Amino acid sequence: MSAMYKAIQVTKPGEFATVMKPLVDPGPGQVRIRVEASGVCHSDAGTVEGSFPISWPRVPGHEVVGRIDALGSGVQGWAVGQRVGVGFLGGSCGYCEFCRNGDLVNCLNQEFTGIHSDGGYAEVMIAKATGLVRIPDDLSSADAAPLLCAGLTTFNALRNAPAKAGDLVAVLGIGGLGHLAVQYARHMGFEVAAIARGSNTAVLAKKLGAHHYIDSAATDPAAALQA
Ligand SMILES: [Zn+2]
Ligand SMILES: [Zn+2]
Repeated sequence: MSAMYKAIQVTKPGEFATVMKPLVDPGPGQVRIRVEASGVCHSDAGTVEGSFPISWPRVPGHEVVGRIDALGSGVQGWAVGQRVGVGFLGGSCGYCEFCRNGDLVNCLNQEFTGIHSDGGYAEVMIAKATGLVRIPDDLSSADAAPLLCAGLTTFNALRNAPAKAGDLVAVLGIGGLGHLAVQYARHMGFEVAAIARGSNTAVLAKKLGAHHYIDSAATDPAAALQA
């Protein structure tokens, strides 16, 4: 196995560079991943443009799927060869007051992938084991990657909403998140209204499962939803 790997990193705001980096061993509590797919999220622009506090250079990418190829010391519950995903939240600490209350999302010591640590625009990345999720065998890496940020954002919004199957759900904007939200909402049994500017998106929205399409450039969406 090569001692170097290729990465696309941001060297300063707005400037990408393809570089070869030396392979490093994962530290305590970390795993090393051979990246198979990395989604591109709009928040990556915050890394590229430096609107997050970035220590340059930084490799963006927080929708990452790959296989574990090395375990750091103390890592339990994960094995070399397992296919895993890494999202924006880089892994909870396990000891802060939020973690102790089971509220891992609000961990006070959580790093953000691709902002505080290098992300998935690379052949290899290092990740905290507490931030990993398992990827089912029947889901391809390319299909799974966008679910690590855009997918879980929309899925959690829907499953934590008080709306029940049969209720009307409106998805505003059919982009990176919205095109997933429409599919989830349809499969969860909601009546789905997709809202976007212009008539061009109507075909896509219907194909994704929307029952209704509202062109917000031609119609007042609030009035259309109440009609
Ligand atoms: Zn994201
Ligand atoms: Zn914590």
